[in-house]
Amino acid sequence: MKIAANTVAGFTYRLTNSEGQELDASTTPLDYLHGHKNIIPGLEKALEGSKVGDKKQVTVAPEEAYGTYDETLLHKYPKTVFPEDVTLELGMELDCETENGVISYIVNEILEDEVLLDANHPLAGETLHFDVEITSVREATSEELEHGHAHSPGGHHHHHH
Ligand code: ZN
Repeated sequence: MKIAANTVAGFTYRLTNSEGQELDASTTPLDYLHGHKNIIPGLEKALEGSKVGDKKQVTVAPEEAYGTYDETLLHKYPKTVFPEDVTLELGMELDCETENGVISYIVNEILEDEVLLDANHPLAGETLHFDVEITSVREATSEELEHGHAHSPGGHHHHHH
């Protein structure tokens, strides 16, 4: 069976950036529902038509991954807006509640009285290199199609909807 729309595929991966640095790697296969935007578009396209045992090297441009880097998502805040018990460090992640929901910021720069926060995805602007091996392909269940994502074999272990 080949990966196509409405199949559930499992794969292991190793993700590196253009400098060859490892950014992420799977410990167990990741299952996803193909054709439902469960994974980044560039990877989903590249896996279409693959079968179990196929190994692929996939390069994904930022536009097909986590987007290009957007300078307008950099915001400066006075240090006084942060709770006193928060020690700000470069690169730390802050989840801020806003009227548009929770936004994750990365601390980009710490100035004397201000802090520069970056709301870009940590991988925005990065060209991603995946080493992928397909471990399973099966038809999706009607429940998975209804939910728009893959379910683990043991049942329905997530909370949502
Ligand atoms: Zn579900």
